[in-house]
Amino acid sequence: MSFYKSKYHDELIANAAYIGTPGKGILAADESTGTIGKRLSSINVENVESNRRALRELLFCTPGALQYLSGVILFEETLYQKTANGKPFVEVLKEAGVLPGIKVDKGTVELAGTNGETTTQGLDGLAERCQKYYEAGARFAKWRAVLKIGSTEPSQLAINENANGLARYAIICQANGLVPIVEPEILVDGPHDIGKCADVTERVLAAVYKALNDHHVMLEGTLLKPNMVTPGSEAKKVAPEVVAEYTVKALQRTVPVAVPAVVFLSGGQSEEEATLNLNAINKYQGKKPWTLTFSFGRALQQTTLKAWQGKEENIPKAQAAFLKRCKANSEATLGIYKGDAVEGDAASESLHVKDYKY
Ligand code: 13P
Repeated sequence: MSFYKSKYHDELIANAAYIGTPGKGILAADESTGTIGKRLSSINVENVESNRRALRELLFCTPGALQYLSGVILFEETLYQKTANGKPFVEVLKEAGVLPGIKVDKGTVELAGTNGETTTQGLDGLAERCQKYYEAGARFAKWRAVLKIGSTEPSQLAINENANGLARYAIICQANGLVPIVEPEILVDGPHDIGKCADVTERVLAAVYKALNDHHVMLEGTLLKPNMVTPGSEAKKVAPEVVAEYTVKALQRTVPVAVPAVVFLSGGQSEEEATLNLNAINKYQGKKPWTLTFSFGRALQQTTLKAWQGKEENIPKAQAAFLKRCKANSEATLGIYKGDAVEGDAASESLHVKDYKY
């Protein structure tokens, strides 16, 4: 047992396991101010605090939706915001049994000497920020590391650098009471086939778990947030059963059984595609010692955003769309989704944005 024993040890294990409750998953609503601005401008809504707050209130206060969620990832601004009636969002979530989480990375910067590869910033002052967020009610954290597939990418340098960054972040979170979501996202950008994505995913995850062990991270108190294994955005798509087989095999080869749950990102898949793939992953027969659930951003919010259009009178329609996606993804975590949540085109629309920034 070479892990570091945090004073929060038991709490970290309990919270990580809770987030992995079958039938529940995570809403990633932690878009930075710049990223939420892009979402809002797609529906001609101005990127000001009141509109950001209104969108988050619409999501968190959707009647019936929180029963399908175990966690919501917030951006710092949202952690301290309240509903129009003055109730802190953190309280709204806690009352419904949903753990508040917080994005703690500060975005990516280019790794000099590489072909546009990146490393994630945010380690400076991280312990103090974690303490502050814990006091404000956060119980888990997210740090997004980004890798890309190219003819010579990801480079070993980018793999090592990002694995190390994730491990440093994870141990600092654990020392300060937050369950770290370890997110090494391999971008879908490119013409590569699914086999290439599987190879890269396995190499990256192997390096990540080596680094987490080197840094004495207690795996029972962590969550993994990987990409699903899919063909690149410029290659032909494959059936959900194929995605499921490649994805589960990549995880079997690299993710220790001590990890309680794997919470997939949607990575530019359409809402329906992400749900169908998650469903197939859970239906796949094979060794799966972890809960396999969702931590979707784009794939939980797209139809809702379109239905809302920033208008008060559209809130019920937008909330109905959000509830539908939450329920569909909850069913997908159990492998019982019937494909009946599609309405209109928005749920099937690709949400891929090249070189996506969060
Ligand atoms: P997407 O589901 O939109 O890929 O985002 C999830 C996330 O939190 C990425 O960091």
